[in-house]
Amino acid sequence: MDLEIKIIKNESPKAKPQDETSLGFGKIFTDHMFVVEYTVGKGWHDARIQPYGPLAIDPASPVLHYAQEIFEGLKVYRRADGGLQMFRPLENAMRMNRSAERICMPTLDAEFQVKAMKTLVEIEEAWVPSQPGTSLYLRPTMIAHGAELGVHPAKKYLYFIICSPAGSYYKNGMAPVKIHIEDRYVRAVKGGIGAAKTGGNYAASLKATFEAADRGFDQVLWLDGRENKYVEEVGAMNMMFVLDGKLVTAPTGGSILPGITRKSILQLAQHKGMEVEERPISVHELLDAYAAGKLTEAFGTGTAAVISPVGLLEYQGQEMHLSDGKIGPIAKEMYDTLVGIQKGAIEDPFGWIEKIS
Ligand SMILES: *Cc1c(COP(=O)(O)O)cnc(C)c1O
Repeated sequence: MDLEIKIIKNESPKAKPQDETSLGFGKIFTDHMFVVEYTVGKGWHDARIQPYGPLAIDPASPVLHYAQEIFEGLKVYRRADGGLQMFRPLENAMRMNRSAERICMPTLDAEFQVKAMKTLVEIEEAWVPSQPGTSLYLRPTMIAHGAELGVHPAKKYLYFIICSPAGSYYKNGMAPVKIHIEDRYVRAVKGGIGAAKTGGNYAASLKATFEAADRGFDQVLWLDGRENKYVEEVGAMNMMFVLDGKLVTAPTGGSILPGITRKSILQLAQHKGMEVEERPISVHELLDAYAAGKLTEAFGTGTAAVISPVGLLEYQGQEMHLSDGKIGPIAKEMYDTLVGIQKGAIEDPFGWIEKIS
């Protein structure tokens, strides 16, 4: 796709944060954003990088009423030599297109999406932090707009990318999380939209997550929506278990978001000679394995944390305590290798790195 990206510079740039240790996540946004528009009959048009700021959309826009919206999340890392690189951006662009198809939105050439990311990052270069664990988080998003309340796919779409410098997820060390296995609410069902990265899945998850938080849990682990029996995923992370020395995770099968971190960890584990299984895992299998001393680790995988070790799994009052409240050896090895590749400290044998500078 050969669409020219027009650049409109922000003439009043913001002061950049001085303290990289207090960046947090998603609170500060850079000076520019990428925008491209789609109109049925005309296709994609008016690609541009413009000053970051509010969007003007009609209050009757379908995104506001029927949640026709999708997004992505990926990071730009600063290497020790000062250069910048992204981790598997084409995977995010292709997943964006799969989400688009599921929510009846137009696709945007994946290579063009990556070009837009790179062009934007080149302009925002000075916003990429350098401290360990920090990155520039990119949030590609697509919304349906225009003025029409009828329930059907919209005629106008906006695809945009915003950037936010992100602090280290593990600023206070890698404290394992406490997870409640949810047996009343469900997030996604087979045949539903669980495999699409769309806002509606998050709206569906808020209540259970906040109720669990009131009871001292950090996250909710969802069970399948049909039998309430098989473990699926957590918040914005896929889940992996070390069961009898093997790395086991649920198959993506339509109700689980196919994480790029998940896919990368599975590949990495195999590369390291570990046995890997993608298969349904019932909560009772976990309880039995725990009782037999065979469930030795559990961790979440996702772009934000890379790996989030689990210290406690709770199901209907039964508790499974893992790894002595520390990060387990397999989670640690996977974390160190993947972060090393992402940051450029370890050579990338897989072709996952896309250099920007
Ligand atoms: C984004 C996301 C993930 C993790 O995907 P990554 O590509 O690894 O960042 C997992 N589950 C859900 C629901 C998500 O939205």
